[in-house]
Amino acid sequence: MSNTSSIVSVPFEEFKDPQTQLLNDAKQNAFDIYCACQSLILRANLGTWVERPKDKLKLPEGQVLKKPYPETPSSSDDEAPNQGFWALNDIMAFENIGVSRPIDSGVKYLCCASCDIGPLGYNDTNSTANEFLIAVDRVTYSRE
Ligand SMILES: [Zn+2]
Repeated sequence: MSNTSSIVSVPFEEFKDPQTQLLNDAKQNAFDIYCACQSLILRANLGTWVERPKDKLKLPEGQVLKKPYPETPSSSDDEAPNQGFWALNDIMAFENIGVSRPIDSGVKYLCCASCDIGPLGYNDTNSTANEFLIAVDRVTYSRE
């Protein structure tokens, strides 16, 4: 018998207190992390919640990525320069992630390797910390 039930993953917006609900005691992701297309991006307990500049997610002019992530209109309480990301130092720890070539600023974009949507996050090659960052609000969460 095959299990054909699909994964029920929960979008970030549905967590009212994400830093309590999404983090384990070690400040790592308590849930498996999925793309909206239901591809597994990162298994639980591998990413660490950090606050990093969100403007680096903004795509420059031109067709940089095959399938740009839909921009959400920013609201007034959205002015903070930083947002939450899941940080990893090892690109090999991801399950289904693609990395773009660096743009002029030295930023590489992380995209879903299954559906090509991106950026789900970035890697700033000019940063001394070699961090691969996944935006907490561009992925979904499941305990399965
Ligand atoms: Zn995807």
